[in-house]
Amino acid sequence: MNFLRPIQSRLQDMPSPLPRRHLYGILLLSGLTLTTAALIPSPGELMDRPVRISIPASLHVPQQQQEQVDSTEFYALPDDDIGAAEPVDALDEIAASEPEWQEYVVQNGDTLSTIFNGLGLPLSTMYKLLDADENRVLDGLRPGQTLYLLIDEDNLLQEFKIQRDIMHTRIFSRSGEGYQSRLKTEESHWESRSLNGTINGSFYLSARSAGLSAGQIQKIANLFQWQLNFARDLRQGDTFRVVVKREFVEGQNTGKAELQAVEIVNSGRSYQAFRHEDGNFYDAEGNSMERGFVRIPLKHHSRISSSFNLHRKHPVTGRVRPHKGTDFAVPVGTPVLAPGDGVVVKAVHHRLAGNYLVIRHGRKYTTRFLHLSKFLVKPGDKVRRGQRIALSGNTGRSTGPHLHYEFLVNNRQVDPMQVKLPMAEGLTGNARQQFLVRVKQLKHQLAAG
Ligand SMILES: [Zn+2]
Repeated sequence: MNFLRPIQSRLQDMPSPLPRRHLYGILLLSGLTLTTAALIPSPGELMDRPVRISIPASLHVPQQQQEQVDSTEFYALPDDDIGAAEPVDALDEIAASEPEWQEYVVQNGDTLSTIFNGLGLPLSTMYKLLDADENRVLDGLRPGQTLYLLIDEDNLLQEFKIQRDIMHTRIFSRSGEGYQSRLKTEESHWESRSLNGTINGSFYLSARSAGLSAGQIQKIANLFQWQLNFARDLRQGDTFRVVVKREFVEGQNTGKAELQAVEIVNSGRSYQAFRHEDGNFYDAEGNSMERGFVRIPLKHHSRISSSFNLHRKHPVTGRVRPHKGTDFAVPVGTPVLAPGDGVVVKAVHHRLAGNYLVIRHGRKYTTRFLHLSKFLVKPGDKVRRGQRIALSGNTGRSTGPHLHYEFLVNNRQVDPMQVKLPMAEGLTGNARQQFLVRVKQLKHQLAAG
């Protein structure tokens, strides 16, 4: 009944003499492209018996809506009512007995006073409305905005409605000599839908053409940043499936949407992420999608021979020579461990830094290791937290065996011993049990896409 909802609710707001069931009949038949006026008989002629009506195929109603219509009971009119001339009189009758809502669409250059003039309403009424407009919605009329006015036979404005956005309508009701205003908030509901696609060109373009927003694509790239490099790893023919929940008010999308589940199949390997009600994403087992770091890239804590210090002065020259890392005094050959999951981006020799290694951890973090004696990984290798990546040494400009360790956030060195490290806590207990039930449903939805 989605497509009826906007009209239904509008009808509920109207003090119409016609019971709602009759209006269903009118509404439906007008949908059959016959003119509305010709179909409305005097109320007494309406049948009081529910009848099912199918929408003819020629109307091209989408499949889903056809089903909704077919399963709903409508009140219909007898066949011989069609084409009768009287209905117009019936409309007049209704109009005469009850005030009628008027709609006015704000035009370029309109002000409230030009609108009131145009509708033949006294400006005194406008001032009373403005008095009641504490939130000053009437100051900001926008072209295209619809105003709803209920004017009675004495030309008194009984009610005035202005839609602020799809969710909110400000309603002014006549009260004594003036007006009272209130805000009506529409109820929204969420609908899930599955989207899928195959990588053809970039992930961004493929995902856009599958119906994902730029923000959602960014979110997905961030979610999988520890596992996949979207620019480099994704190949032609890789696939993705996404479940998105969207918010609707009266059948219209409010623009709010939430990713629920994502699956990417890269070279035959599946990567999945599911949203938990805490707003975070986890893998199918409830493990965090974030990858945490350990503080120290060594098996045992070792003495720090020189701390991170951006204002360190050279002992002889007195010039400021910042020390952008932490030095651990360790013997040559001590295993150096990856402090977090990542990809090796550099393993080279440098005149000052000696053998040095760089690991990128997702988009935001990078770690660097200087003066090494031996590399145990090469550029392009994926490494896991705790994996041996090198042996410490005394290469380059170094006054003794040590490991110089740098931690970069957005390409700037920070104190490795002080930096707030990303947490990697997964779900446990009840939360995990609930999450696993939800994952089962989402997997079904992913598969359906
Ligand atoms: Zn150092």
